[in-house]
Amino acid sequence: MDILIVGSGGREHAIAWAAAKSPKADKIYCAPGNAGIAEFAECVDIKAMEFDKLVAFAKEKQIGLTIIGMDDPLVGGVVDAFEAEGLRVFGPRKNAAIIEGSKAFSKDLMKKYNIPTASYENFTDPEQALAYLETVKMPIVLKADGLALGKGVLICETLEEAKAGVKTLMLDKQFGDAGNEIVIEEFMTGREVSVLAFCDGKTIRCMTSAQDHKRAKDGDKGLNTGGMGTFSPSPFYTKEVEEFCEKYVYQPTMDAMASEGRPFTGILFTGLMLTEDGPKVLEYNARFGDPEAQVVLPRMKNDMIEVMEACIDGKLSDVTLEFEENAAVCVVLASDGYPEKYEKGFEIKGLDKFKDQDDYYVFHAGTKFDGDKIVTNGGRVLGVVAKGGDLKAARKNAYEAAEWIDFANKYKRNDIGKAIDEA
Ligand code: ATP
Repeated sequence: MDILIVGSGGREHAIAWAAAKSPKADKIYCAPGNAGIAEFAECVDIKAMEFDKLVAFAKEKQIGLTIIGMDDPLVGGVVDAFEAEGLRVFGPRKNAAIIEGSKAFSKDLMKKYNIPTASYENFTDPEQALAYLETVKMPIVLKADGLALGKGVLICETLEEAKAGVKTLMLDKQFGDAGNEIVIEEFMTGREVSVLAFCDGKTIRCMTSAQDHKRAKDGDKGLNTGGMGTFSPSPFYTKEVEEFCEKYVYQPTMDAMASEGRPFTGILFTGLMLTEDGPKVLEYNARFGDPEAQVVLPRMKNDMIEVMEACIDGKLSDVTLEFEENAAVCVVLASDGYPEKYEKGFEIKGLDKFKDQDDYYVFHAGTKFDGDKIVTNGGRVLGVVAKGGDLKAARKNAYEAAEWIDFANKYKRNDIGKAIDEA
């Protein structure tokens, strides 16, 4: 069957790579795609939020399966638009994608169904939010309710900072309508782990764990970014933690969504913090993480398309997920200055070295063709991924491979996977 992937980042490149391996896949299209995805797929000039055009394209090309990679279209109801035309699509409907689209919704869901998370209050009135701040301990966490590209979370050390944060989110509307409501949440400490899972509305099957590095600079300094690197599995996600989460987090979340009349089909991403009081949910996302997908999918033994179809057909309980007994590390190569100002349009050299190399991958994020050259076209440019027998070997390989690539203003963190040494 022909497949359409919606999105243009490293995550969608990893999805396209996994789709291309499936014997079920014939032609693959990606809207809008990027220069790396073009190796596996025909890139189509339709943006992810142009639902009518996407649906019309899928109908015209008789697409057998559409996979939505990004959060914005899911939260906006792209799956509903496809289903209304009888098209097969992988991802949650709008009423389930709200688990990512509204942090106030997801916090209330967790509270109602006793899923472990930080204590919190939601506010739509800035005056009430300010009054509440006078009653809580610092540090405290403020979160814009809606999508804000990972930037809508403020960790405030002092009352003054917190008050200024309420102003930024709710009055100055730095993130637009995303700040109409805010969550004020207890500050937690601990290691973070991301767990991605396939879901069919009733059943949830978790993939291997991963850990992201959100800050721009070494030592977790600098601004928050879309993610500067990942490793998988997390050595801190022990059997004990896993069993706890199976019992108190994953299936309870599926059951809670079904009980609310919002059955969740697609990828559920659970961001966990491993606190002294046990694992607690930091956030849910309604799609693969980027760059978590880049380290998880290359380790998956199953045919991804088969698993996605089982999700759509409500048959996930028949599926056993299997992962390789190895590790993978992703080092993001970015444009210097990201996530603020940066230049683009520089030629990227060294990409050929990854061709036909087992266990080394280069997933494109911000790249495009300029004639027959590939040039930088975004903040996060490439994700270099390498596997290894264990995490340390994978990290060594990934940093070696990061040197194969050259472009002007190349920037990377040098401590991706540092936590591995502390395990
Ligand atoms: P957005 O919705 O804007 O994309 P996000 O979904 O990335 O943001 P979160 O994952 O909820 O937002 O938070 C981002 C980061 O902030 C977390 O990875 C974690 O490091 C930190 N954080 C969030 N909540 C807390 C908390 N309660 N205590 C301590 N740190 C937190």
